[in-house]
Amino acid sequence: MRASLALLLLLFAIAPARSGALTGFTICLDPGHTSETSAGTASRDGSLTERHVNWVVARDLKPLLEAEGARVVMTKISEDEVVTNRRRAEIANAAHADLFLRLHCDAASRSGLATFYPDRQGRAHGHVGPSSAVIAASRRAARLFHPAVIAALDGALTDRGIKGDSATGVGGRQGALTGSIFSRVPALTVEMVVLTESHDYRFIRAPAGQRKMARALLVGVEAYARAKG
Ligand SMILES: [Zn+2]
Repeated sequence: MRASLALLLLLFAIAPARSGALTGFTICLDPGHTSETSAGTASRDGSLTERHVNWVVARDLKPLLEAEGARVVMTKISEDEVVTNRRRAEIANAAHADLFLRLHCDAASRSGLATFYPDRQGRAHGHVGPSSAVIAASRRAARLFHPAVIAALDGALTDRGIKGDSATGVGGRQGALTGSIFSRVPALTVEMVVLTESHDYRFIRAPAGQRKMARALLVGVEAYARAKG
């Protein structure tokens, strides 16, 4: 009895510190733009660019993910770096990411947050993809991630729902977004806000809104990681 108690105490002493919710989870964080196709959208008055919002939210989100034990691989090292959409997917693939999370802002008439996933194969640069396994894994990821993000935003933004890549302009032409076509890991594109809409613009312009977005995205990633196991 005394020996087993000593063993128990020894195990406590050598056990690592309590691991975070995302220990062992690798995420490729992709702040959208500038790519080969677009520098991104902007607010109506031009004072706030999508590229900047994508970058600052990613900058806020990265340490939150790392604090929970995740390995975070970025597709860019500076805000003004130009990275092609194909290259972004290749970075996620090389990292063997559990999730390729792409941060964007929309230009539309309706406000709110939407999550896109590849819902069919497409073709870009002579390459057909993603695989049916990646399509299924991305759909599952979207269904876990999106409602958790919306709940964590606590009414700050409208829920625009989960949509297929094929509903986007580029996806409509190619079948899927270029980054999805080249992805061999589950890929989600979050249109965090509609930057051309005044409510969404005011929300994401404020550092508090940017931080709230980063925290909500963390909750979404955790919901996915928890279910994925
Ligand atoms: Zn974008």
